[in-house]
Formats: sequence, structure tokens, C-alpha cells
Amino acid sequence: MSQKIAGPKGMNDILPGEVEVWQHVERTARELFSRFGYGEVRTPTVEDTALFVRSVGEETDIVGKEMYTFEDKGGRSLSLRPEGTAPAARAYIEHSVVNQEPLTRWFYMGPMFRYERMKTGRYRQFHQIGAEAYGSKEPAQDVEIMDLVVQLLQTLGLKDVSLNINSLGDETCRPAYQEKLVGHLRAHVDELCADCKVRLERNPLRVLDCKVERCQQIALAAPSILESLCEPCREHFASVQRKMGALGIKFEINHRIMRGLDYYTRTTFEFIAAHPVLGTASTVGGGGRYDKLVKSLGGPDVPAVGVGLGLDRLCLLLRESGQRFGQPAQLFIAVADEGSADEALALASRLRREGLRVELDTRGGSLKSQMKRADKVGATYTLVLGELERTSGQAQLKPMAGGEPVPVKLAELAQTLHAAKPAA
Ligand code: ATP
Ligand code: MG
Repeated sequence: MSQKIAGPKGMNDILPGEVEVWQHVERTARELFSRFGYGEVRTPTVEDTALFVRSVGEETDIVGKEMYTFEDKGGRSLSLRPEGTAPAARAYIEHSVVNQEPLTRWFYMGPMFRYERMKTGRYRQFHQIGAEAYGSKEPAQDVEIMDLVVQLLQTLGLKDVSLNINSLGDETCRPAYQEKLVGHLRAHVDELCADCKVRLERNPLRVLDCKVERCQQIALAAPSILESLCEPCREHFASVQRKMGALGIKFEINHRIMRGLDYYTRTTFEFIAAHPVLGTASTVGGGGRYDKLVKSLGGPDVPAVGVGLGLDRLCLLLRESGQRFGQPAQLFIAVADEGSADEALALASRLRREGLRVELDTRGGSLKSQMKRADKVGATYTLVLGELERTSGQAQLKPMAGGEPVPVKLAELAQTLHAAKPAA
């Protein structure tokens, strides 16, 4: 016997039965993004490795440890995208979008890749929904992005998600904070993990999101960046908070929200779910401002703010909510005798053309086994088609949830079904 080949570790198949939740989230997001004026951008799944090294940052876990990097046949170093902000910024620059419009709102959806240790809610191929707004440096834009997420979570019926916000300052005030932080970290240098000893020299802020427990304890006692903000950053952060309050959006200030990527300036935020199904993978989304990223990638000096949401985690939460998604067949046609099979097939074809969801069992079989199938697919109604029905043009519509069968003319079947209420 041939050996079975398994799917790649940490990468999931999403089958019918589960995919309906995904489609529901995607549909809801698309509809909401368009209300907010965000247009969809689709970029390649792979990019020049340098794009992520220069934007996300060489010392981050994402680039330093988790990236799928390979050489193509032309000797170029390419990487499967680990996130969506840098590719979107690359496209924004490449197509000179700033010359066409001063304010640009984009969203994207798609798979991302990180070589991580997999567990519930943490995969090697995962999916993000993200939004990016280029061209506004104002706090109103930060708030709009967070409002977008709040409304998405509300529309999906996801409660118990808290919003943590922070400010990372900018090039004026962050160096002074970094110095304070280095002072604190140096006092504990012997206790830091090997990676953090390197980070301390090269990119000390990254120590603050190290996952090693002892490093986390040291990070916990680190000075708060909020005390080091310069006046413009302080004012920006205060204004974000005021506007959030005006929209009635609840949030907490958490000076430890650093984010695992280097490109952030000023506002950063994370949406954290309380549900146990996610375990330690409780962050459903995060983002912030990245006013210097576009320029640092060779583009114009355009401020921006964005967010990335973990679609896999949103779907895990939604599945727990007990809601049902997907649309069962409105009608199952069962064939009473061999001589009615062709007519049943034609009837199904005609009804589908008229916009109805119709199933029949192409294997034929006994009426009993066909009814079993109707039950399994959760059809709202069944109709048995036999010689009597064909010659009289009359049949019985049987509600599968129970209740009396309704007589129906075959010629009026589509109308009747369109008018029927969907299954409860
Ligand atoms: P975490 O702290 O959970 O590792 P992160 O800070 O690395 O998250 P981001 O880069 O900000 O994550 O990505 C945004 C969102 O994408 C996360 O909040 C999370 O919901 C989701 N996400 C990130 N990595 C994974 C993964 N490996 N598997 C599933 N979802 C992920
Ligand atoms: Mg991570």
C-alpha cells in the first residue's frame, strides 16, 4: 500500500462544515470595511525577504526566527509573508498611490506564515484580516481603525474582548526612553536569556516582548514609556483617548503593549479575548501607527495606522458561541422510482437556476436511504417525485422539522419555496 502523506505541520485544512464560520466572518468584515470606505488590496503571498527585514525588523522573532525564507530559481531571496502591513506599504509605494489620493484606506485578507510552535490558536499558516490607512497623522484616524475593529467584533457578537492601548512615542522621545530601559535591563543583564542579551545591544525594546518567563518579570518592572513621551506624543495619545471616550469605546491603558514589530510609532493597541478556548493565544488583533514605515521603505513621507486581526482565532471564538452558519438545502428531491430519476434531475437543475438550494441523491437507492440523506443535509423540505407526481403535476412538500405536508403544483414549486420561511 502507498504511504499516506500528511499536510504540513501547523497548517490546517478548512473543510465544509467549518468553512461557513470563516465565510461569515469574511463576509461581515467585507461589508463593514466598505461602510468605512476601505477598499480591498491583494498582494502576492511571497515578497522580497529584504522587505520584512527592513520593516518588521531583523531582531524581531518574526523575522529572526519565524520566517519561511527560500531562494527561487533565479537566486532571489523570497519569503512567505509573515504579516500584511509591509506588503501593503510596498504596493502603496510601488503604485505611487499617494499621487492619486492623499488619504488611502485599504483592507486585506489572506494567509500569513510564521514558523511557530503550534498549539490552539497558533499555527504556521494562519490568516489575517487587516486594515491600513495612509495619509492622516491625526488621532481621529487611530480612533477610526479601532472603531472598525470594535464594530466588527460587535457585529460578530463577540463579547468579552478588551482593548489595551499604549503609545510608543516617536523619534524625539523614544531614544531617551530607550536609554532608561537599557539602564534597567543592564542591572539585570545576567538574568536575561541569551537572545535578550543580544537584543539589549541591538534593539532593547524587543526585550519587553520576550516570551521567556524571567525576561518577562524583568520587563514587568521596567520603566513605563508613557512617562517619557514628548509633548506632541503626549497630546496625540490624550486626544486618542478623548475621542475614544466620545465614541463610547472602552479601553485600558497598558504601557506594556509593545507589539512584536519594529515599525510602530505613537499609538499601539491590542484586542484581547477572555475566552478559555484560546488559551495563551488570546490576542485576537493588534496594530498601531507607523508614521515612518512608508518613508523607510523608499516611499513618500506618509503617516499611517493599521491593524491586523487573527481570523483563525476569531473563528475559534465564534464557533464557541454556538451560532450556526451556512445555509442548508431548501429542498431535497427524493426519487420514488427509477423512471422518475431523469425528471428529478431536471427539476433540481431548473430550481437551482431559479436561485434555490436543492439536493438530490445522485446514487439513487431506496426511498428510505434518500430520506436519511435529506435528514443529514438538514434540508428544510423534501419532495418525493414518482410517477403519480409526474403525471398529475402535483406533489407534497414535507417540512423536515415536522408538521403537515403541503400540497404544491410542480410548476409553482420555485415560487412556493422562495416564499417559504427559512429553517429555524
Ligand atoms: P501573539 O502575541 O499571539 O504571538 P503577535 O503579536 O505575534 O501575536 P501580530 O503580528 O500582531 O501578532 O498579528 C496580529 C494577529 O494575528 C494576532 O493578534 C493574532 O490574532 C494573529 N496571529 C499572529 N500569529 C499567529 C499565529 N501563529 N497563528 C494564528 N494567529 C496568529
Ligand atoms: Mg507572535
